[in-house]
Amino acid sequence: MGLCKTSNLKVAVVGAGIAGLATGLLLRQLGCDVTIFEKDKLLKKEGAGIQITSNGLFVLEKLYVGEAVVKGGLKPDNLCLFDEDGLRSIGRLEILNRLKRRYGRPFTALHRSHLIKILLEKVKAEKIKINFGSEALPLIAQDEQSVSIFCNGEKVKKDLIVVADGVSSNWKKIVFKENKERSISQSAYRFVLSKKNLPPVFLRNNVNLFFGRGRHFVTYPTDLDGTINFVFCKREKKGHLANHWKEKVTKKQFLDDFELDENLEACFSNVKTIYKWPIIESGIPSSVQKKNVVLVGDAALGMLPYMAQGANKALEDSWVLANCIREYPLDIEKALKKYSKKRVKRLQKLDKVSRLNEKIYHLERKMFRWIFFLYLRFIIAFLPSLFFKRLDWLYNFKG
Ligand SMILES: Cc1cc2nc3c(=O)[nH]c(=O)nc-3n(C[C@H](O)[C@H](O)[C@H](O)COP(=O)(O)OP(=O)(O)OC[C@H]3O[C@@H](n4cnc5c(N)ncnc54)[C@H](O)[C@@H]3O)c2cc1C
Repeated sequence: MGLCKTSNLKVAVVGAGIAGLATGLLLRQLGCDVTIFEKDKLLKKEGAGIQITSNGLFVLEKLYVGEAVVKGGLKPDNLCLFDEDGLRSIGRLEILNRLKRRYGRPFTALHRSHLIKILLEKVKAEKIKINFGSEALPLIAQDEQSVSIFCNGEKVKKDLIVVADGVSSNWKKIVFKENKERSISQSAYRFVLSKKNLPPVFLRNNVNLFFGRGRHFVTYPTDLDGTINFVFCKREKKGHLANHWKEKVTKKQFLDDFELDENLEACFSNVKTIYKWPIIESGIPSSVQKKNVVLVGDAALGMLPYMAQGANKALEDSWVLANCIREYPLDIEKALKKYSKKRVKRLQKLDKVSRLNEKIYHLERKMFRWIFFLYLRFIIAFLPSLFFKRLDWLYNFKG
């Protein structure tokens, strides 16, 4: 069940990514008068696979799109772990039934643009105003208690501004004066590839995680059209700069940088477009609320993707915000403060675990790798539920 109508706030949402669209929809459910501002003329098709875990699906169900997402994505059977050296198998964990049993929802993978399309259709069906080609910037007048929007040469005043402008958030810099972008220490090469001519290890309906030295890569099926998503992540030399989400590299650049094993290299002869994305991390602000402005999604925290939580965390933000407003419909300040308190705590934990995963996934020393793989083999063979127990705090999200 979604939310009951309890609020008639006038709300602006800045950004029509997953965070912005989901928040717009939930606040509309509450009865708010929502307008979404998106700087691009159209929603971009850029991106690749997105993993939706039970916490994200919980929110998508509240938006009445859970079924469409599960139908439009794939539900991998197993999580398979490999040592990148020689592509040796470490073990296999059944996830389809296990996750459904443990969290009541399946794990789903789909293309980012597919999820955006589903959310956008819902936004249109709910008749939420969405202005494309409208860059919304903050307008802070000394004598005013609240922040306004400057868009298309006009000042727009709203009771609440939900900022969902992504990891390089200008609003976070200007309004929150918090611009703790951490240096780019990681980058990711991403592409999707049709199943044709790929070795069987990639074709099965599994998520494959390959641990290398100072790097790792993940493969998983995305949409029903049979494409496989490849993500290669590595530590980056300091000073690397790339155009976020848009930098395309040649196959040669990718292969030279990754120096893959010959057999693996041969698999990628059909790759056409490879994106190289710097993994931008933003610091966690001490508060995600200031005056009548709140941050959601990557604007609140851009973190290392080693928990695959970017979209899920954005969906969580939208649900918690809507719930806080539902709880205090007549005291918006209290609602926003509660939202900030709840989220900052959880974001800190997510950030910490993602950073720890980065260290573990990228172990370099032979002995540490050997111990880690032995530990994984033991857990998979004798205590598989322990593998997920440590994630219960995340996947069991109920708001
Ligand atoms: C092009 C792109 C591709 C991505 N691909 C993947 C992927 O394949 N896999 C994955 O796991 N994650 C991907 N991500 C990240 C993932 O979408 C996010 O981690 C997560 O969904 C949270 O997104 P968000 O809505 O907070 O921010 P974003 O998805 O970054 O959306 C922010 C939106 O705000 C708009 N915007 C920015 N500034 C303004 C402004 N001043 N006024 C109005 N609008 C503004 C942007 O145009 C954008 O549409 C991608 C992000 C982008 C932008």
